[in-house]
Amino acid sequence: MDEGRLISDIESLSGLISLDGKSVKEIGRVSAVYPFRVPRFYGSLMERGNPSCPIRLQAVPTAAELGRRGVTDPLGESLISVTPSFFTRYPGRGVFLVTAECAMYCRFCNRRRLVGKGFRPETSREETLAYLEQCDGIREVILSGGDPLMLQPAELEYVLGRLRKIERIGVVRVSSRVPVVFPEGLERHRQAIKRHGPLWFIIHINHPREVTPEFTGAVRALREAGAVIISQTVLLRRVNDCCHILARLFEKLVELGVKPYYLFQLDDVLGATHFKVRLETGIAIMRSLRKSVSGLCIPHYALDITGGLGKIPLENDYIRRRKGQRVFMENLYGEEGTYRDDGEESRCNDCGICRV
Ligand SMILES: *Cc1c(COP(=O)(O)O)cnc(C)c1O
Ligand code: SF4
Repeated sequence: MDEGRLISDIESLSGLISLDGKSVKEIGRVSAVYPFRVPRFYGSLMERGNPSCPIRLQAVPTAAELGRRGVTDPLGESLISVTPSFFTRYPGRGVFLVTAECAMYCRFCNRRRLVGKGFRPETSREETLAYLEQCDGIREVILSGGDPLMLQPAELEYVLGRLRKIERIGVVRVSSRVPVVFPEGLERHRQAIKRHGPLWFIIHINHPREVTPEFTGAVRALREAGAVIISQTVLLRRVNDCCHILARLFEKLVELGVKPYYLFQLDDVLGATHFKVRLETGIAIMRSLRKSVSGLCIPHYALDITGGLGKIPLENDYIRRRKGQRVFMENLYGEEGTYRDDGEESRCNDCGICRV
């Protein structure tokens, strides 16, 4: 990749934002533990003199990252791996790590034990492809990493080509932050995206300021290449922990034809505790969003519990109590209403196939 466009030295960074001596030292110390890399493009979105700029907070190392709270593998991915680059937690679908490179190393990344650290999932790529060819359950593959769009075009083309030959696998998702932080990195993959479509793109985007003309152009290019586009957002303290900021982000995405899919509670990742938002705040934000924006703008708010136990949907509980068949619920404005829950008994497993 064109290294000049991806900054990983303090000198180039200080050309974009003002850094005092203390910050320079901090960045040096922290990046020895967790590497830093910022695309020049993303750096240009930062407010030069503002250390609390929400773009800067996501990209520039701070001493808080050396905190000891959290765990290195919060999702327990090592416990559910089938090969070193493929893991499954749910029936029918699994995550395929195709690279450990990203255009930017987000300061709260839940795979920071792997990204930019010399881990090479590429070495087990053939093993994973062979597994996917012969296993019998997987129908959906999620390409992740790292960022799949950081692969060389021929490599991505190769992986997609092999997956598309497996008839059982009907759905291929690509998780990427490239359209947001390094939109010029998309162009070289357009042919592969088009040839192997429809691909589901799940774009990681966290702040309305990340909706730039360049991002809008990338979304348009993806759509023209036949992709279906959804988004995921990480709830981050001081970055986007505000119902107005998130409403703005999700509305802008829907205007561009991108469906907000997940809002993730931050995993319990080592050295990112300073980005955590309390659950009750997250739930309150979701409740405000439901009042103020279209249902199209509402993602699933979810949390991955530590230890590989999977995603848990988080919601305000609108049911207050039950009395016989009456269920007492509160609406979004705190008013109470009732519903008569008097349906005849029924079961979902009447078809006899599933037993739930
Ligand atoms: C999140 C995740 C998925 C995808 O879950 P969806 O709810 O289908 O988006 C699949 N596998 C693993 C291991 C995951 O963490
Ligand atoms: S783009 Fe994704 S995988 Fe890469 S550093 Fe950011 S959060 Fe982690």
